[in-house]
Formats: sequence, C-alpha cells, structure tokens
Amino acid sequence: MFNVDKIREDFPILKRTVHGKPLVYFDNAATSQTPQIVIDTIVDYYSNYNSNIHRGVHTLSQEATDKYEEARIKIQKHFNAKEAYEIILTSGTTHSINMVASGFASLLNKGDEIIVSALEHHSNIVPWQMLCEKTGAILKVIPMTDEGSLDMKTYHNLLNDKTKLVFSNHVSNALGTVNPIEEIIAAAHKVGAAVLIDGAQATPHIKPDVQALNVDFYVASAHKLCGPTGVGLLYGKQEWLEKLPPYQGGGEMIATVSFEKTTYAGLPHKFEAGTPNICGGIAFGAAIDYMNSVGFDAIANYENELLEYGTSELLKIDGLKIYGTSAEKTAVISFNVNDIHPYDIGAILDKLGIAVRTGHHCAQPIMDFYKIPGTIRASFSFYNTKEEIDILVQGVKRATMMLS
Ligand SMILES: *Cc1c(COP(=O)(O)O)cnc(C)c1O
Repeated sequence: MFNVDKIREDFPILKRTVHGKPLVYFDNAATSQTPQIVIDTIVDYYSNYNSNIHRGVHTLSQEATDKYEEARIKIQKHFNAKEAYEIILTSGTTHSINMVASGFASLLNKGDEIIVSALEHHSNIVPWQMLCEKTGAILKVIPMTDEGSLDMKTYHNLLNDKTKLVFSNHVSNALGTVNPIEEIIAAAHKVGAAVLIDGAQATPHIKPDVQALNVDFYVASAHKLCGPTGVGLLYGKQEWLEKLPPYQGGGEMIATVSFEKTTYAGLPHKFEAGTPNICGGIAFGAAIDYMNSVGFDAIANYENELLEYGTSELLKIDGLKIYGTSAEKTAVISFNVNDIHPYDIGAILDKLGIAVRTGHHCAQPIMDFYKIPGTIRASFSFYNTKEEIDILVQGVKRATMMLS
C-alpha cells in the first residue's frame, strides 16, 4: 500500500522551512530529493571504506571495488541490460551523450544524416551540432505539434538510407511529454540507423527495459532518481560500445601502455578513464534499490493522481495556460498566467516556500515554438501531496493578484 506520509519520513529535507514556510518542493524535474538511505550510503562510504577501486590489493580497495561493481549490477538489472559491462558509469546524462557523440565522429561521413527531436534539452542538441560541424553530417529535426508531441508522420518521412543516428528524449523535461520511443527505435532500425534515448526525465517515473526496447544507447542521471549529483549511466549495446573509440585517455581505460602503442581495456573500463565517482556510483545503486522498494507502478499511479489534480486545480485560475497537453505525460505542469513574466511569479512563490523552476528549462526551441520567454514549471514526485498542490494554487493566485 502506497503511504505518502510514511514515504515523506524517508526524506529529511522535506522537514525544513524556507522563508519561515514549510518547504513545498516542486522542482523535481531539475533534481530529486535524497532519501536517508542514500545519504547513509554516502556517509558509510566515507566513514568506513573510502578507497580507490580496481588497483589496490588492500582490504579497503577491495571493499570499494566490490560495492562499486555491485552497484553496476543493480543498474544492469534495473535497466535489464544483457551484460553488466554494457553499463558505463559516467558523470551524468550530459557526459553520456557527449561520449556517444564524440565516438560517432569517427563513424560518420559528409552527407550522413542525424535526426533529433524538437523536444530536446540543450544537452541533447549542442553535441550533435558539434558532431555535424566536425563530420559534415546534416542535422534534421522532428517537429513538434501544438500539444507538445512529436510529429511522427514527418519523422517517418525524414528517415532514409543516409540516416545514421536518431536522438530523442524518452520524456521531455520542459513539457513532460512521453515520446513514442518504441516506434522511433523500430523505424530507425529499418533504415539501419542507431538510436540514443535520453532517459533523464523518464527514469524517475518509468522502469525502462533496454532489451525489450531494443535501443542502442540509453542514458540517465542518478540525481533525478533520488541519487546524488555527478553520476549517471551510458547503456550501450555491446556491439556499439565495441565499435566506438574510447572517449578519454587515462588510467583505468588501458590494458597495456608503452610509448609505441597502448591497447585499451575491455568494456566497461575502455570508457571509464581515471578515478570515477566511486561513492556516487555506490549511492546510485542504493537509490535504485530505494525506488524499487517504493515500486514504479505505485509511483506512476500516485504521480498521475497528482498530475490530474494539479492540472484541474491550476486551470481554475483565470488566465492560466498550460503548455504540453499530450495524452501521455509525466507529472510536469508547465504554465503561464496572462502575460506575467514567469520569473516574477516564481520569485513570489519562493517567498511562500514553494520551489518551482522558471525559464526556458534548457529547451529554448520549445519556448520559441510557443513564442513565450519561458514557463513556470511545477514537477511532482511521489513524495509530494495534494495539500502541497493546494498551497501552490493559492500561491499562484496571490502572485497573480500582486502582479496584475
Ligand atoms: C536533466 C536533463 C539532462 C541533463 O542531465 P545532467 O544530469 O545535467 O547531465 C538531459 N536531458 C534531459 C531530458 C534532462 O531532463
């Protein structure tokens, strides 16, 4: 049975106040809060077995290595990767995307085509533009529709035998739209293109099965699913990870080194140069255990309730418009009230203890599409409540009155 009061007990930060008011944290799409069990894992690492991995014969190093590799296996199981070495631990989604983009530089030719969705985070646009500049490949964009979904008809028309790569997020961070990635992946494979899915925004709500999806690359960040910042994953199918050259040179990623020739280590070490975020990786594993103990079905059901409630309550406010109204979406509500600048409402909400995001949410092309400077984004998590949504609605009403 899902019990939100009990769950809130797991998150010490939810007890704090902001400007004398109880914290209402609705910026979960930017980063999620951290449960005590993950905080304890971090403290335990630094208190008891902090050590470098893979090198030492000594006990601490062996303990750290074991825990780090256990975390990799937890992540493998969670995403249902075939092999643990298909999970590369990175510093996060941005790092993972850049690793793939940089690897493809050696696989693309002038005139090859890359398709990217119009609903992307900047971190999923810039690396492909850089890759195109480097290789002479051409970037094509899947347009979006008014309700914030992808125009799939145009996508199918963009695909051809020059298409080498397709990139889309699983869920849009600005609007919450859940994209039809099964269809995107299957159609890309028909023309022989590889697919990278950015799961940063999906993984807090959905448990993806990379084998069932048959996706070539899937990336995510721990800090959006109750883990620490600075760690994330690159899942890659073995055949693709073997095809891509290493991203960085350094320790851990080599088998033998001489000044004449260096041979690279096998997977996953080929992509893990230098000392990784050891504590972060272990805490990522603990966060995944925690999320699974709550249960992704329970999370999705409850967050959906919050989304429906929040949508209907906010729409009662005069002049409030919601952006992103696709039938399939996660618990993200992006909105504006009349012509009031989103920042002004956000600043007043902060004085009331309510944390929302305002601005373009690293997705400026979407804001350009709607011809707005940005939105106020309230993003809900399974530890939020309807009472908190009531506080948000009251806050938005109050801010609107003050600013009109
Ligand atoms: C947050 C986010 C990113 C960037 O994640 P980092 O952890 O900052 O690297 C990329 N894509 C989407 C969809 C996101 O929501």
